[in-house]
Amino acid sequence: MKILVTGGAGFIGSAVVRAAIAKGYSVVNLDALTYAACLDNVASVSESPAYAFEHADIRDRAALDRIFAEHQPDVVMHLAAESHVDRSIDGPGEFIGTNINGTYNMLEAARSYWVSNDKPTDFRFHHISTDEVFGSLGATGMFTEDTPYDPRSPYSASKAASDHLVRAWHETYGLPVLITNCSNNYGPYHFPEKLIPVVILNALAGKQIPIYGKGDNIRDWLYVEDHADALLTVVEKGKPGRSYNIGGENERTNLELVQTICKILDDKRPLDTASYADQITFVTDRPGHDMRYAIDPTRVRNELGWRPSVTVEEGLDKTVQWYLDNEDWWRALQSRFGVGERLGVKA
Ligand code: NAD
Repeated sequence: MKILVTGGAGFIGSAVVRAAIAKGYSVVNLDALTYAACLDNVASVSESPAYAFEHADIRDRAALDRIFAEHQPDVVMHLAAESHVDRSIDGPGEFIGTNINGTYNMLEAARSYWVSNDKPTDFRFHHISTDEVFGSLGATGMFTEDTPYDPRSPYSASKAASDHLVRAWHETYGLPVLITNCSNNYGPYHFPEKLIPVVILNALAGKQIPIYGKGDNIRDWLYVEDHADALLTVVEKGKPGRSYNIGGENERTNLELVQTICKILDDKRPLDTASYADQITFVTDRPGHDMRYAIDPTRVRNELGWRPSVTVEEGLDKTVQWYLDNEDWWRALQSRFGVGERLGVKA
């Protein structure tokens, strides 16, 4: 199977690329290499004959048509997106351009390619989305595939719009699509502006560890390699036109999460007298900050037999160890972009 992965130089896309090659699939990685990309994320597979890279922007329809014609993929896994909620609040324009117009271009390029190949029944257009399209939960309940959409940030609104386009291309044109909505990911190669790397790197640097509000927002955390495995399972076994919610069944408040990371660091790299938790600082909450996300993964578990392989404690241990072992990777990104030190926290 040849998979066209968009956004394969990003955090989750690169995990998908590495996992797909390990499974024996061929991959064409299409990426515009925005600030969030890092080709080092796929260095371990880039010499493989099963791997090809296309430096292209999903807003450029002509480039997409050329890539489809040249590489003749069996499946598309569409992950390219602007993904940072705080950036979407500061400047929503890029999110509309890439997440909505870019997805529209991908759908049209895929449809034209699918039609010109006599509509192969095993073609799939897999759109990777977020649970943030469902809005915010109270203390109880979980997001199912039938939960009404209620996005509340420019990021989640742009992803919701793209989900609607993908569904419409299935209903209207019969394009065999799959949609997945996933909870918060964490793990190796997570860009240093996101919550978990900010916590690890600020802790190590002796800086304040910022937490929005009181730290009582709840997220359902999923280890990125488990997500990549789930996405490949959906591509292999998912039913066209269907959507699947993917989650780790690992709900934690932000404060609990940060305290767990501090404890892991206390064990792995102890300070003389203090605990890393002493660096925790509460900062003014993000506007419109969703209170709780929780995924009901019954469908992906019962229909496709997928479940996460690690608990959040195991995944965080592996993640902290990865950042300790891969200082060159995050230092290079920090010096290129000056990120990881700002009080910008996605969660
Ligand atoms: P990321 O920001 O780490 O990576 C995005 C990648 O897309 C980058 O390599 C970037 O260069 C590329 N890209 C951006 N704009 C592009 C364009 N116009 N053309 C081509 N490439 C472009 O994002 P991520 O965290 O890996 O998320 C990947 C996908 O998964 C996104 O669609 C996101 O909405 C979704 N998602 C993320 C999470 C999460 O917790 N990170 C959770 C659920 C869903």
